[in-house]
Amino acid sequence: MNKKILFACWLPWIITIMPEENSTQHHQLIIVGLGPAGLTAAIYAGRAKIKPLVIGNESLLATVPVIENWPGTQKISGAELIERFATHAKAAGAECLNDEVDTLDLNHTPFTVHTQQGKTFTADALILATGMTHKKIGCPGEREYWTKGVCNCAICDAPLYNKKPVIIVGGGMAALQNAQWLHKYASQITIINRDAAFSAPKKMVADVLKYPTVKAYHNCEPTMIVGDENHVTHVHIRNNVSGETFTLPTNGVFVSIGYEPCTQLFKDRLPINEESQVVASPVGVTPIPGVFVAGKAANVPNGQIVHCVASGCSAAISAAHYLEAKRGTKVRKRMFSSCQRDTNA
Ligand SMILES: Cc1cc2nc3c(=O)[nH]c(=O)nc-3n(C[C@H](O)[C@H](O)[C@H](O)COP(=O)(O)OP(=O)(O)OC[C@H]3O[C@@H](n4cnc5c(N)ncnc54)[C@H](O)[C@@H]3O)c2cc1C
Repeated sequence: MNKKILFACWLPWIITIMPEENSTQHHQLIIVGLGPAGLTAAIYAGRAKIKPLVIGNESLLATVPVIENWPGTQKISGAELIERFATHAKAAGAECLNDEVDTLDLNHTPFTVHTQQGKTFTADALILATGMTHKKIGCPGEREYWTKGVCNCAICDAPLYNKKPVIIVGGGMAALQNAQWLHKYASQITIINRDAAFSAPKKMVADVLKYPTVKAYHNCEPTMIVGDENHVTHVHIRNNVSGETFTLPTNGVFVSIGYEPCTQLFKDRLPINEESQVVASPVGVTPIPGVFVAGKAANVPNGQIVHCVASGCSAAISAAHYLEAKRGTKVRKRMFSSCQRDTNA
């Protein structure tokens, strides 16, 4: 046979088996979140013979230098604990993808998940374990200069500010812990606290205020972060009691005002409480069949790692029951329709 004709005959088959770059992949279960809750859910899903896709970026826990309350291990770094969870999840059959989900369609089944890297997936069931993130100030310039001088982790970034002036925004434990790290490096540390006094423990406050490079302004907040396009240069500040405004030159702004649940992606579709967490049953069931939640994104009491892993386990078991029931229904429907065909014949 002519080579051209032979190629034309095979072409449709070649096209069918060629992997399509942008094709939508379907999974029985997709877990959003690579933190303790999401990875534990993945381990339990794997044990139920469901091979989930787990999508997420680094958990905040990975930045914690020492954890002393993980049962069975007296001291372990957050990064190592997360790494162990991930290794366990992969061994149980999970596929992990470092990416961020930017849209979720919870209105139709299968659910559609779209990511920042442009991938689209569908799933019969979802476990949302998106945890928490740092609260933002919300002033102009914060977003523009994020990672260009605006940051939140002194442990990670303090050496970048060696002999340079920095500002810390906040008055709680996170702010003062950042001051403790930064005083080894920064030439001047100015703490801008919106409240009238610090809310961190007194001993910690006393220790930090002993450093000669530390100065604190209470009742104050940043109104604008300004820079030269590449990096922060100064910050405009307002005193909310006196109304006075002033400007401080700085190279770094450490935003240390606490944490909030990452529930923006689905807050319009699921019930949310005053703390922005999804309200779910104790086993992670939400009002949308097939959608489950776990960890700090949900109304899990206390929110320590042990609580979050427990809720990940419960959500995975709930999801496994849901998928099994759904499969059973499909099998029953198929049997029923084939019986009907047989009867009609
Ligand atoms: C400074 C600090 C110290 C702590 N120390 C301790 C301690 O010593 N002991 C203790 O028990 N607990 C500690 N905790 C609490 C602990 O970190 C939490 O209990 C735990 O991390 C919560 O787990 P999680 O899986 O719910 O969420 P997280 O660990 O927050 O993980 C959430 C995951 O979801 C992902 N995600 C979020 N949004 C998206 C999206 N749109 N698309 C894809 N992925 C997304 C994130 O990238 C991340 O992978 C500490 C927390 C902090 C901040």
